[in-house]
Amino acid sequence: MAFTKKTVRDVDVDGKRVIMRVDFNVPLKDGVVTDDTRVRAAIPTIKYLKEHNAGIVLMSHLGRPKGDGPEPELSLKPAADKLAELTGYEVKFVDDTYGEKAAAAVAEVKPGDILVLENVRFLKAEKKNDPEVAKKLASYGDIFVLDAFGTAHRAQGSVVGPAEFIPAVAGFLLEKEVDTLTSIFAEPECPFVAIVGGSKVSSKIGVLDHLIDSADTLIIGGGMAYTFFLAKGYSVGTSLKEEDWIERAGEMLKKAEAKGCKILLPVDNVVADHFGEDATGEVVDSDKIPDDRMGMDIGPKTVELYCEAVKAAKTVFWNGPMGVFEMDQFAKGTEAVARAIADSDCTSIIGGGDSVAAINKFGLADKMSWISTGGGASMELVEGKALPGVEALLDA
Ligand code: ADP
Ligand code: MG
Repeated sequence: MAFTKKTVRDVDVDGKRVIMRVDFNVPLKDGVVTDDTRVRAAIPTIKYLKEHNAGIVLMSHLGRPKGDGPEPELSLKPAADKLAELTGYEVKFVDDTYGEKAAAAVAEVKPGDILVLENVRFLKAEKKNDPEVAKKLASYGDIFVLDAFGTAHRAQGSVVGPAEFIPAVAGFLLEKEVDTLTSIFAEPECPFVAIVGGSKVSSKIGVLDHLIDSADTLIIGGGMAYTFFLAKGYSVGTSLKEEDWIERAGEMLKKAEAKGCKILLPVDNVVADHFGEDATGEVVDSDKIPDDRMGMDIGPKTVELYCEAVKAAKTVFWNGPMGVFEMDQFAKGTEAVARAIADSDCTSIIGGGDSVAAINKFGLADKMSWISTGGGASMELVEGKALPGVEALLDA
């Protein structure tokens, strides 16, 4: 499925002022950006606009401000500095978003200039998509560009608002993310193997439900596997479990059978007597988990089974670690599966904050076809939902 909305390529930006929503929601430590992935991801569109002679006004949120005014530790200034450092461009910053100071700084923006506004969420009304916020932000540009994939699932003032007043198009990151995460479901190269792990069934049920429709094989790992075990009648000791979701997990197993989607569950597990850095693991089969043990990782037989499935795949989608990968002794399953994906020449798409952190921890990021920059937004796409930010853009 091709991207169905207009992009920056479809509008004339020459000599125009562009107000662009980016996702500069970066982690900071002592006023310095500790992971610049999101700033890097916005550069292709910024570069394109600059090279096509647009004046560029950038806006983003960062962190979770209260919304009652400036909070210096959540300022976008470090992100603006990082953009300057990464591009070599001059990047101006104004410590205001909706006031006269911001308007004056925007009025100074000439073709080729780049200005970063202060955190859009220093005002509560932004999150509520207040029409005054939308109007104000729209007044800063002739064209609105949405490139903030990470917040495209939020109907907030800086995400959807300006589209009501000025022509609104997508940036390259948004286009690529949506295109990648929708086309794998529309026309995956088969076998399509989906791997879902992480902590909870409840937070992944929509993802599982939609994946069963298109995947040939669905691999389940992580803490959520234990709720599936309960649905199959196994006992799970003190493993993470969601009693209220056993029935839904059982329904998923039935749906998969009806749809011809093969589900793989762990056949063995690394279990421990408590959840902690000092815990040691032992391997037990899935139908023999002792009452006083909790599952922390998939076991070696499961690793082999899952890696075989990955090897046979032409398309892999992965969300959610196979175990408590933050603790080295329980990271083996996640690492083995990640390496199997990295070693394969399949199309590999990775989504989800912790999964991406795991891939980075193992140094395998550049071996994957696509690593989504959005957590919640990528999950909503995988659930088959439309993103409000994308919906608001002009149709191609
Ligand atoms: P993502 O952010 O990639 O979508 P999730 O947030 O769903 O992933 O899940 C990640 C978390 O799941 C990690 O913090 C990991 O420690 C936890 N997890 C994985 N396996 C287990 C397990 N067996 N028991 C408890 N927690 C687990
Ligand atoms: Mg997570």
